[in-house]
Amino acid sequence: MDQSQPEAAGAHARPIRAAEIIAIGTELTVGETTDTNSGELARSLVAHGVAVTRVTDLPDHQPTVVETLLAALARADLVACTGGLGPTPDDLTRESVAEALGEELTVDPDALGWLEGLWARRHQPFPAANVKQAWVIPSATTLPNPHGTAPGWWVDRPDGRVIVLLPGPPRELGPMWRDVVLPRLVERGVGDDSDVRTLRLTGIGESQVVDRLGEPLLRRSNPVVATYARHEAVDVRISARAEDGRTALEVGDEAEAAVLGILGEHVWARGDTSWAAALGEALAARGWTLATAERGTEGALVALLRGMPALRRAEVIGSGPEPQERASSTGEFELREAERVRAAGSADVGLAIRVRSAGQDTAVHVGVVAPSGRHAERRLAFMGGRQGADRAAIAAAAVLQTFLRR
Ligand code: AMP
Ligand code: MG
Repeated sequence: MDQSQPEAAGAHARPIRAAEIIAIGTELTVGETTDTNSGELARSLVAHGVAVTRVTDLPDHQPTVVETLLAALARADLVACTGGLGPTPDDLTRESVAEALGEELTVDPDALGWLEGLWARRHQPFPAANVKQAWVIPSATTLPNPHGTAPGWWVDRPDGRVIVLLPGPPRELGPMWRDVVLPRLVERGVGDDSDVRTLRLTGIGESQVVDRLGEPLLRRSNPVVATYARHEAVDVRISARAEDGRTALEVGDEAEAAVLGILGEHVWARGDTSWAAALGEALAARGWTLATAERGTEGALVALLRGMPALRRAEVIGSGPEPQERASSTGEFELREAERVRAAGSADVGLAIRVRSAGQDTAVHVGVVAPSGRHAERRLAFMGGRQGADRAAIAAAAVLQTFLRR
C-alpha cells in the first residue's frame, strides 16, 4: 500500500464525531413512505458516540441533493445517505454524489459481474436499466448488498470525511449498516467514549417518573437522563460520556444505580426489549410454556405477545353479557379460566384476563396459574376502548412478569 496517499493520512487524522443523515426519495417528501431509515441510523450512531447534528429528507431531485450534500460535507465528518440507489431514472443519488464531488461515473466491472450473476441464476436476461447500479466514482468503493440489487458506496474524502450511500429498503439498509459500514467505521475510530442504556418501566406514568427522579438528575449534562413515554413503557434513557478520568461506562453505571434505587421496582426490561421478549425470556428460564385467554380485549394480549416461542395457545373471546359469577372481584373466574386454558393448551402457565369499562378507564381482572402457584389481581388501566384494552394487556403482562420473578 502506498503510505504517501493523502486519503490514508487524512482518513486517520479526522475522527468521526459529527454525522448528518440524508434520506433521499420523493416518496418521503410526499408522505407516501415514512422515513424510518434515518431513525435507525441515528440511534446506532448515537449509541457509538457520534453526534447526529442534522437529519434531512429530500426528494429525488439532483440539484437539491447536490446542494444538501455539499452543505453537509462542510459541517459533518460523516454524511450517511439512504435511498435513490434503484435502477430507475428517478433514483439519482449516485449521480448527485458524482456531481457534488466533481467526479466521473464509470461502471465497476466487479459490481457489474455480481449483478449479471443475480439474473443469470434466475435464467433471465440482464436489464440494461440495472447497469447504473454498478456505477462508481474513483473515490468510492462499492459495499455488498446480500438482500437486494443496489450495492452501497463508501467514499473517502481527502480531508478524512466519509460519505456512505445505503439502499432505501429497510431490510437492505439494516444488514449493510450493521455488517459492513458500522464495523468499518468502528475500526476507523468512531465517536467518543460513550455509553447509552435504556431502562423500561411499567406501572408508573412519565410525570411520576420525572417527579421521583427529580431535577438534579434530569438536568445534568453528563450523563443525560431523559424520559420517553412510549406505548408499552416509560423509558428512562441514560447517555454518558467519559469525564474526569472516569469511563463512560462508569458514569453510566453510577446514574443507573441511582435510577434503580428510586424506581427499580418498575423496571421490567432494558434496551428495546419487547414484552414478548421479556416474558419469553422469563418463561424460558424456567422451561415453561404459556396459554392465554382474553375477554373483551379484541386480541390486545395476543398482539402484545406475538412471536413469543413459549406461547402455545391464545384464545380471544368477545366480551358479551356479564354472567353474575364473572362480576365478582375475587378473581375466581379468571383463575378458573387460566386453569382451563392452561389445560387446553397443555401449557405450564395459564394467563386469563377480562376487561370491563370502568368510567373513562378500563378495569382488568388477571388470573395466573402456574406450577409455582396461583395469583389473581385487579388493575385499572388508563383510558377506555382500544387504548384501554392495549394498556390492560400490558398490565396483565406486568402482573405475569412480577409473578414469575417471585
Ligand atoms: P430506493 O433505494 O430509493 O429505490 O428505495 C426503495 C424503497 O425503500 C422505497 O420505495 C421505500 O419503500 C423504501 N425506503 C426508501 N427510503 C426509505 C426511508 N428513508 N425509510 C424507510 N423506507 C424507505
Ligand atoms: Mg427511490
